[in-house]
Amino acid sequence: MKKWHLIIDIARCHDCNDCFLADKDEFVENDFPPYSAGQPWHGQRWMDIKRRERGQFPIVQTAYLPMPCMHCDEAPCLTDDGAVYKREDGVVIIDPVKAVGHREIAASCPYSVIYWNEEKQLAQKCTGCAHLIDEGWTETRCSQVCPTDAIELFLGSDEEMAARVTDEGLERYRDSLGTRPRVYYRNLHRWTKAFVAGNAVDEVRDECAEGVSAAVSVEGREVGRATTDNYGVFLIDKLEPGRDCTLKLEGAGYRSLSMPVRVDESVTLGAVLLRRAE
Ligand code: SF4
Repeated sequence: MKKWHLIIDIARCHDCNDCFLADKDEFVENDFPPYSAGQPWHGQRWMDIKRRERGQFPIVQTAYLPMPCMHCDEAPCLTDDGAVYKREDGVVIIDPVKAVGHREIAASCPYSVIYWNEEKQLAQKCTGCAHLIDEGWTETRCSQVCPTDAIELFLGSDEEMAARVTDEGLERYRDSLGTRPRVYYRNLHRWTKAFVAGNAVDEVRDECAEGVSAAVSVEGREVGRATTDNYGVFLIDKLEPGRDCTLKLEGAGYRSLSMPVRVDESVTLGAVLLRRAE
């Protein structure tokens, strides 16, 4: 059967919040029994967008992580009494009647995407737009409005999704939790990994050093490589944070240069001076 999956491309998200606003437009003060009760105006972000800066001036990137409910297959929020249940298509629903008064549901999510509605005494979260899917929609409100096509609803079999995961290099966020989310990310490294960047400069001529090879290694094993552009810029991404690394620059006509770099988060080194070979 066709199951619910969401694929989010972090490199395409620009934090415009159209998805957040579409969610508000759909759910604020709107009841959709038996899927959901109206969302309050304030205090809930069923599509939350987390923000992060990578690197330091002058080489800085921003990364945005849109975070709906992950509709996990091994969801810790599920309850035996049907207050929180999983549909056959994989969507996880908080029953807006049975869940009333169950404050503990709000604390059960390791992704912190369940919100407590004090007025209604109800835990609430993203429904995956199940009420629309059941009417034949092939988009969620968030995927429909995204101007950069960063969000895609994929209605397909688990086997088809597994093939896409392999072919497209998709990942689950915090997969080690073991909850088996149905939300997948493309370019997740922009959130979870780090880069080392800098500007290679010819020390004598005081000009950008183009075409220089920059390599990062950990304990003697190369883990990333890039070549400087015409501004002398190199950026080596997808590095595991929390490592002592060695950066080595090598270019025709220059002495090779090695330097230690501690990578706890993305690092911009600034100008790295290269000496001419004798
Ligand atoms: Fe439940 Fe949280 Fe998983 Fe959503 S992300 S299914 S609320 S555990």
